Amino acid sequence: MQEENQRSVLVVGSVAYDSVKTPVGSRVDALGGSATYFSIAGSYFAPVSVVAVVGDDFSSEHVELLSSHGVDTSSIQRQSGSTFRWSGVYNDEDVNTRETLDTQLNVFADFQPRLGDLQSRLPYLFLANIEPGLQLDVLGQMAERPRLVALDTMNFWIEDSNRALTEAVRSIDVLFMDEGETRSFSGEPNLVRAARRIMGMGPTTVVVKRGEHGVLLFRGDSVFSAPAFPLENVVDPTGAGDSFAGGFMGYLASTGDLSHDGFRRAALLGSVIGSFTVEDFSVDRLASLTRKAIDSRFRALTDLLRFQPLKEGESLPWRDRD
Ligand code: AMP
Repeated sequence: MQEENQRSVLVVGSVAYDSVKTPVGSRVDALGGSATYFSIAGSYFAPVSVVAVVGDDFSSEHVELLSSHGVDTSSIQRQSGSTFRWSGVYNDEDVNTRETLDTQLNVFADFQPRLGDLQSRLPYLFLANIEPGLQLDVLGQMAERPRLVALDTMNFWIEDSNRALTEAVRSIDVLFMDEGETRSFSGEPNLVRAARRIMGMGPTTVVVKRGEHGVLLFRGDSVFSAPAFPLENVVDPTGAGDSFAGGFMGYLASTGDLSHDGFRRAALLGSVIGSFTVEDFSVDRLASLTRKAIDSRFRALTDLLRFQPLKEGESLPWRDRD
């Protein structure tokens, strides 16, 4: 058990009911939420414990779905009222872009997270997309500085809770943001300069999510580009970013490898896990993964990246023009 705790990830974030419309179809009140996607994704690699709140309309089957993945749900509080709800519609021509139609905080509006003693000592912390005040609250309740603290957020909070978000970003190691959010949060249109500016605030690593174009991993002076796995059929991109983060953090927690190579592999595994999520609505595909399916897609992604590097002393063809 002691050893298990050394590899455990604590996550605070939304557990939600989502209504989405994509070019392929639509779903109403389907299981979603940043912490939901993250914990199922992470559960394939490391023990995950969730801190969240749900309303009395939340189905016990959905709590069981998380438990069946070995996720510790003891800190999902149930309160009277409605569960967090989000609805969005994806662009017919470009599935990378979506519009939020509605966000209802509901029980999250008065949520007071309470960590158990064991949880407050877990070595990996993921502050998933939720009100930054709650992210700070959980960070403040940690009895020891975790080995790695990562944070994800979105435009909604960049605009509404900029001050609390900025304070949280100053105390973390890894920041996840999509392209537009990176630009608007940093106030810098160029992504390389934007990432540098954010690293200047505190984080050692910035992961810029670019939808079907993959992610850019900025870490110190190094930049790594992890492609998205190319798919023929994208059904619903909701939760891809949180699933990416779950695979990423799960890998780092499971291996304990916080080297540059460890982070690069974590980004590739994150990409693989995100690619499963978008193949169906809600967590339908994500929740049914096997070790074989994950390994085989990781190999396929590796194949996609294989090329002949320049050998020592070799140079590229060059036509002399004089
Ligand atoms: P992603 O597609 O990875 O950005 O994650 C989408 C998930 O984030 C959905 O399942 C929503 O329930 C959840 N979500 C959307 N807006 C918010 C918000 N403002 N705060 C917390 N979670 C949110």
